[in-house]
Amino acid sequence: MRATRAEGIEPIGADAVQTTGALLQAGADRLRASGSDTPRLDAELLLGTAVGAGRTAVVAHPEAPVGPDAARRYRADIERRATGEPVAYIRGLKEFYGLAFGVDPRALIPRPETERLVELAEAEVMRRLGLASPSVEPLRIVDVGTGSGAIAVALAASLRRRGAGEAIEMLATDVSPEALHLARENAVSHAVADRITFEGADLLPDRPAAFDLVLANLPYVRHDAMARLPTATTFEPALALDGGADGLEIVDRLVDLLPVALAAAGIALLEIGADQGDAIVTLVASRLSGWSCRVELDLAGLPRVASISRG
Ligand code: GLN
Repeated sequence: MRATRAEGIEPIGADAVQTTGALLQAGADRLRASGSDTPRLDAELLLGTAVGAGRTAVVAHPEAPVGPDAARRYRADIERRATGEPVAYIRGLKEFYGLAFGVDPRALIPRPETERLVELAEAEVMRRLGLASPSVEPLRIVDVGTGSGAIAVALAASLRRRGAGEAIEMLATDVSPEALHLARENAVSHAVADRITFEGADLLPDRPAAFDLVLANLPYVRHDAMARLPTATTFEPALALDGGADGLEIVDRLVDLLPVALAAAGIALLEIGADQGDAIVTLVASRLSGWSCRVELDLAGLPRVASISRG
C-alpha cells in the first residue's frame, strides 16, 4: 500500500520545524517572564546546546531550521531554566579559563572571578620557575576544596601548554567524594590527570607537607546570607558555599594550618568575598604573627584573592 502524503508531513504545532530565530524569541520571552536576568543569553546557550552548535552559530543564522528533536530538547531545557536551574547545569558544562568544564550538582559552578586566582597562581609558578635552575624538584601545589577541579585543572593545563607541565606536582583535595569524581573527570578531559593527585580530605591530608603554593576557593558566604542567594545558586551544593557565621570559618581553619602546610618561601592564594578584604587581613594578623596578607583585586576592582606568606 502506498503511504499517504500526510505521513510525511510534520504536524503543525510543537513538533513543526521552526527557525532558530523564532525559537530564540519564544525561549527568551518565556525566560523573561520567569524572572531570568539574562533571558536572551540563556536561550542562545540552550539552543546552541540543543542543536549541537555554538551559541554564535545560532545567533548568526536566525533563518536556519531546527529539527523536531532538537526543538523538543530546547523546550524542555527552557522549562528547566524557568524553574531557576543554572544554565551551566542544564548544559552540563561551563567555560572557565578558556576550557570547557563538566559541571553538575556534585560541585559549585566555576565562577569567572576565580579566574583571577588561577591567573595569579600561574604568574607565581612562572616567576618561581624563572628563578630556579632547571633540575630542581617540581613545585608542590595543592588546591584545597577543589570542587569541579576548575582551579587545579585550569592551572595544570595552562602550565602544560606553556611547556611547564612537568615542573609541578599537584594535589587536589575535597571533603566531598562526589566532587572529587567530577574533578577527576575534568582532569581526564583536559589531559592533566597525570599531573594531579586527588584525595579526600577535610582541607589537607593529615601528614606533613611543605607546599610551595596553597590555592583555595573555599566556601565563604556568611550563613545568614545563604537564604538570600540568587535562585540559581540554590541548585548548587550548600557545602561549597556556606562559610559559617562570619563566612570565614573554613578559611580560618585553613589559615591555622598554613604554618605546617606551607614551605618556608611558600605562598597561599585564597579566594575571598568582595566584602572580606579587611576581615581576612585582620584574621591573618591575629593568627599568624609576622606573616603578611595582601589583598588582590579582581577585574571589577573588588577584593578577591588574599595572598598570604611568611614575612
Ligand atoms: N562567589 C560565590 C558566590 O557568591 C561564592 C563562592 C564561594 O563561597 N567560594 O556565589
